[in-house]
Amino acid sequence: MAEYSESAYRQQAKIVTHRFVLMVTVGFAYYISAWFGISQTIANEGIAILWPPNAILLSALLLSTPKLWPYILTAAFTAEIIAGLPSFPLWATISFGLINAFETLLAATLIRRGLNEPFDFTNLRRASRFLLFGPILAAAIAAVFGATVYLFLDRSGSTFPSLWRLWWFGDALGLLLLTPLLVRLGRESMNGFSGPGWSWPRLLEFAALWSTVFLLGTWVFVAVEHTLEVFHLTPAMMIPLGLWAAFRFGVLGAASTVLVISLLAVNYLVHGPHPYAESAPHFAVWQMQEYLTIVSMLSVGLAIFLHENRQQRNTLHLQYRAMQDSNDAIAIADASKEDMPLVWVNPKFESLFGYSAEEVIGRNCRFLQGDDKDQDAVKTIRAALQQRKACAVTVRNYRRDGRPLWIQLSLAPVHNRSGKVTHYVGIQHDLTEEKAQEEALRKTRHVLEQQNEILEAKVLERTHSLQTSNEALQAANKKLTTLASQDYLTGIANRRHFFETARRELKRQKGERGTVSLIIFDLDHFKEVNDRYGHEGGDEVLRSIIAPTKEMIRPMDLFGRIGGEEFLILLPGIDGQTATEIAERIRCKIRSLEIPCKDKTIRITASFGVSNWDGKSDLETLIFWGDTALYKAKQSGRDCVHNFPTATAQTKTAE
Ligand code: GH3
Ligand code: MG
Ligand code: MG
Repeated sequence: MAEYSESAYRQQAKIVTHRFVLMVTVGFAYYISAWFGISQTIANEGIAILWPPNAILLSALLLSTPKLWPYILTAAFTAEIIAGLPSFPLWATISFGLINAFETLLAATLIRRGLNEPFDFTNLRRASRFLLFGPILAAAIAAVFGATVYLFLDRSGSTFPSLWRLWWFGDALGLLLLTPLLVRLGRESMNGFSGPGWSWPRLLEFAALWSTVFLLGTWVFVAVEHTLEVFHLTPAMMIPLGLWAAFRFGVLGAASTVLVISLLAVNYLVHGPHPYAESAPHFAVWQMQEYLTIVSMLSVGLAIFLHENRQQRNTLHLQYRAMQDSNDAIAIADASKEDMPLVWVNPKFESLFGYSAEEVIGRNCRFLQGDDKDQDAVKTIRAALQQRKACAVTVRNYRRDGRPLWIQLSLAPVHNRSGKVTHYVGIQHDLTEEKAQEEALRKTRHVLEQQNEILEAKVLERTHSLQTSNEALQAANKKLTTLASQDYLTGIANRRHFFETARRELKRQKGERGTVSLIIFDLDHFKEVNDRYGHEGGDEVLRSIIAPTKEMIRPMDLFGRIGGEEFLILLPGIDGQTATEIAERIRCKIRSLEIPCKDKTIRITASFGVSNWDGKSDLETLIFWGDTALYKAKQSGRDCVHNFPTATAQTKTAE
């Protein structure tokens, strides 16, 4: 078995209870009104002057959703049978029940057809639907069946048309008198009676109204006793009371007042001693029905009209106030006239543009553009107006004092019921401040961008100068390094650089088991050069022998000045024999040099010592050997090359 949750069960129970209450209420009300209809309003033929139950049934249908209709109809049908059985045979009561159900179902369906919201008597359109489909159409159709049943009952001997008319008018009148009241009551109770409150003066007024209705009603309907002509006139005196109710107490007040009038009238017709009841009952009933129809339609109709009118007025007022109080300027132009003149502007329009309404009404809106008519926005507006379309643009307008305004304009055509454009409504939002801010922002941004550019340029400049100084620094460093390793006078390796590099080379050669030779040479009698040509002359000589010497050796050979006029050449990969030959070539080269000094020419010679590395001795030893050979060269008359034999060196080392 499926288990229901408690809340679902409760929900279900609530729905069942609701339906039960609905059925009992409808059934009971139907029964009571049927009883009333039969016992209180029945004319001599046995047809009611007004038949209230159908109004109960129709109101219930109009107030509820179609889902509930079967329950409502069942309840009403049952009540009909219970109410009718004492007076009619079963077949007749069943027929009456079915006819009434059919009538109200037809009426409710037709009235509600095409309506998106719950039906109510709040406007004349709806009320007309009710009048047409309920009292006029559904009741007339149902009356055909009702009259047929009566014909079969054969109680009065009346003709079919007369029975049909009596049924129709009775039903119609019942619907007319009660349905607006019940539906309004139902809706009001659903909405919690949201209408205007009942103040004491209003209550007193209502009491006064009903007292007048009772007093006048009693007098009107009784006083006509024997006065045929006055009967037509005096009941008309009740009409102002119905209108009073309509004016002062709305649809509900009017409908209830009309009901009271009806009850009084029917009561006097049925029980009272009025002239027709005996002599011309049909005529009396029709007269009464006619009279009550007029009273009801006038009063309730007026009340509905006033209600609708008030609502429309309220809506209109609200919309008017909304437009009046709008924070945007609003202008309406008449599109049906040639030049589309303005017909209305709101106060904001006046304050925004500086024109009074009187000044602008009747003029075309283009005066707002001043001479500034070449704007794209103006062209857009013109095109939209020509094509009867809406548009939204930002346009430059001008105040009366000439000050320009930026206006965000939203222009829309207003159509009439048949879809024709009759007006244009323009909503103008002042964008001037926003635009000014935007402009200020743009300017600020421009200035910022400019400053940024300047800054960037400066940064670039600084970076550049930094780069330049960095390069200069590097160059200086390089120069410094060169200077530190170069001999200041000749540009070849100085003593320190020579020793460092030569030591590294020997170390490398030691690992590779390579050969290295050394040439050491010293200029001959250099002191004399200095003496004869001055120190500058000596320097010139020192500088002049460099290039010729370099020509005799490879770039990879290490050439250095290690003292006054003493030079060293380290020749990696060169054996002693080759080194001696190289030294010889250098010697010849030097002695062939003609060094210009002032207007003289200096000639010089040099003495050479060559030593060959043994693969293990240090640099100092190798130089010592070279020096030894050089010494020998000096000894043997200078301008010559002497070789230091390794064997000698080894011998020396051994010593
Ligand atoms: P010898 O043939 O024996 O070598 O005779 P010498 O005159 O060349 O004698 P020594 O080599 O001892 O003389 C070196 C001289 O070289 C001493 C000094 O005046 C000169 N001298 C040393 N350095 C420089 C220098 O840088 N520039 C100049 N102009 N002269 C220098
Ligand atoms: Mg020397
Ligand atoms: Mg010398």
